[in-house]
Amino acid sequence: MAKVDNWHLKRKMQYPYQATRAAKQFGAVFDINRCIGCQTCTMACRSTWTFSNGQEHMWWNNVETKPFGGYPQHWDSSLLAKLGPQKWTGGKYEGQTIFEKPDGGARDEPLGFIPETPEWRFPNIYEDTATATSSEGLSLPEHQNFFFYMQRICNHCTHPACLAACPRKAIYKRPEDGIVLVDQKRCRGYQECMAACPYKKTMFNPVVRKTQKCIACYPRLEGGERREKGEIPRCMAACVGSIRLSGWISTPAEARPDNPLDYLVHVRKLALPLYPQFGTEPNIYYIPPRWVPRKFLAQMFGPGVKEAIATRTSPDRDLRGVLKLFGTTRMTIERFAIKDDVIEGFDAKGKRIISVPFDEPFYERPFHDAEYSAHRFNEP
Ligand code: SF4
Ligand code: SF4
Ligand code: SF4
Repeated sequence: MAKVDNWHLKRKMQYPYQATRAAKQFGAVFDINRCIGCQTCTMACRSTWTFSNGQEHMWWNNVETKPFGGYPQHWDSSLLAKLGPQKWTGGKYEGQTIFEKPDGGARDEPLGFIPETPEWRFPNIYEDTATATSSEGLSLPEHQNFFFYMQRICNHCTHPACLAACPRKAIYKRPEDGIVLVDQKRCRGYQECMAACPYKKTMFNPVVRKTQKCIACYPRLEGGERREKGEIPRCMAACVGSIRLSGWISTPAEARPDNPLDYLVHVRKLALPLYPQFGTEPNIYYIPPRWVPRKFLAQMFGPGVKEAIATRTSPDRDLRGVLKLFGTTRMTIERFAIKDDVIEGFDAKGKRIISVPFDEPFYERPFHDAEYSAHRFNEP
């Protein structure tokens, strides 16, 4: 066991692997408030990476309907039950992570479980199903029912449980970008990573008898002869609701206020990690939905939910600007600058790759267009 720093928990924690942070860390922010549950992201990933034999059940990107949905079913509630009640005090996690709670096994493996086979069968079970509970903590003053879409890919965790659990050392975290990959030559399909990943984002391929997972579309990021370096992943580029912004995330000490991810996560504290109490320091961050009971969200995203929702509800001009960058370009935005009437995004070389106006121009078309001899109806 090594002691590693986990800034989500504001403390050091036990981790059964000697590891150092990547030089740069791939990450993303997903704004749950904007998602329309169309599954375009899911199909974009599917049609790019998981259309082969043995991958029929494999959805590296999935969008599930909370609170009842899950892929695999019960992935989070099962682990939360095993972890038991834990405690945050003043933003610091005082409970046990999956690396610290004994699993009862012979080795130092993280607390986990392998889902039952039928739990992988329905990626969008309970779609659009609202809870109608009025029990304490799960109701809102405004209304009793709620549901929301939860977009999930591998978190390319800073302290990956999948990597720590693999007896073959087949999983590795790339030092240059923090992307977590399974070496298909080394993997023997023992499925220890599946048991250990708290997000259940490694999946067993029964045809090739190896586990496979989201690769953060690294060939797009790397570029090549026919592709520019720095393209964002397929699921991000295809997102219809423009809810996703991928890029690089820093630690709080190294955060840059002109990096859009650092700005949203560290400066504005608007985007929060998913189940930080698990301890893997996940690198996909979420802007929590405004219409969901705060206690439910606090369990899912940790402390900071109330502050994040207050900020999202009344965004100031700068924040509105950064939120406008989502879904505007297929290239990675490394820096941004706010000007009088536009917000600009720049690539790694400092080249401007996007410019978005704060206010879209408004055109009122004439009732009769003489050029095309057409009548138009502008009335609502
Ligand atoms: S989400 Fe799971 S599979 Fe992905 S890096 Fe973290 S522990 Fe590994
Ligand atoms: S990043 Fe790429 S591989 Fe990962 S879920 Fe998105 S599309 Fe799939
Ligand atoms: S494409 Fe975007 S809006 Fe549609 S389900 Fe996926 S994350 Fe949500």
